[in-house]
Amino acid sequence: MEVKPKILIIYTGGTIGMIKAPETAQLTNVNFDHIYDHVPELRRLNVELETLSFENPIDSSEIDIKHWKEVAQTIFENYAQYDGFVVLHGSDTMSYSASALSFMFEGLKKPVILTGSQLPIGIIRTDGKENLITSIEIAAARNGENEPLIREVAVYFDYKLFRGNRSMKDSAEHFEAFKSPNYQELGAAGVNIRYNTNLFYYAPESEFKINTDFNDRVALLKLFPGMNHELYQGVFDAAKVDGVVIETFGAGNAPNSNGFRNLISSFINEGGVILNITQCNSGAVKQGLYKTSSLFNELGVISGGDMTTEAAMTKMMSVLDRNNLSKTKELLAKNLRGEITL
Ligand code: ASP
Repeated sequence: MEVKPKILIIYTGGTIGMIKAPETAQLTNVNFDHIYDHVPELRRLNVELETLSFENPIDSSEIDIKHWKEVAQTIFENYAQYDGFVVLHGSDTMSYSASALSFMFEGLKKPVILTGSQLPIGIIRTDGKENLITSIEIAAARNGENEPLIREVAVYFDYKLFRGNRSMKDSAEHFEAFKSPNYQELGAAGVNIRYNTNLFYYAPESEFKINTDFNDRVALLKLFPGMNHELYQGVFDAAKVDGVVIETFGAGNAPNSNGFRNLISSFINEGGVILNITQCNSGAVKQGLYKTSSLFNELGVISGGDMTTEAAMTKMMSVLDRNNLSKTKELLAKNLRGEITL
């Protein structure tokens, strides 16, 4: 008898799982135990599906570290029983969650595909059905050796498959809502699903583990011309903040004023860590290329290369240990899950 791949769908919340209640016409969450009633096409897929839902599904703007832990723990506990996982998630913060999960998992050898939609699954023009059905197909895909094809955390949206920690939400309007500007897509769904297998990430050989111990003493600062640096002293208060991600200009540039310099140098001298990423949507930080970024090299700021904000923030949360600063800095600069081009 043919053994069908077993896929676990985890619903966290978001538009994809919504239908209009017939009585009130208000959007409410689908009961995922009855998913086949809402998406009967799923019966025709050659997979065995099971579903789990957050007790209280949330809009993804409410996502917090505890929710990432819940998803990671659920996958960890069900890892041996399933061939792949599909996480249904609001699109707004999906790339943060995909990045966070990529850092939480060590030695992942099975697909974890995050998807969502711009329109509720219960609406005729929904993009949710295609996103859901193809995500399940991708999570069930096997290679010639009958091993899982994808072995990383990925985002599938509007016919494209992206590495999760390279993706970003790019449109609040279009069905084509995600981009991965610094890393080519892992696959595209047309008549066939075509994969760029040479771009896949394979974790180093190790037992599957999760590290859900995230540090929330982190801040994000986007520079702008005319910024009054005095207002940001709280962000660089090393008694309260362990790490700051700075979104700088262009290839990693910032003003060379004494005010800005002092904020950074005193924070680092007191044991804080700073990671420099660009506020441009594509391209990378190259510290020292211009005079306006050489201060970062002098002061010990770490270059975040071509990492997205989503990857930089969650990587910082994942590796930041005030008691082991040299290890923290080493890990931040390293490629841990395919999130940075070195
Ligand atoms: N606000 C919703 C969310 O992110 C939008 C969506 O699901 O796409 O949860």
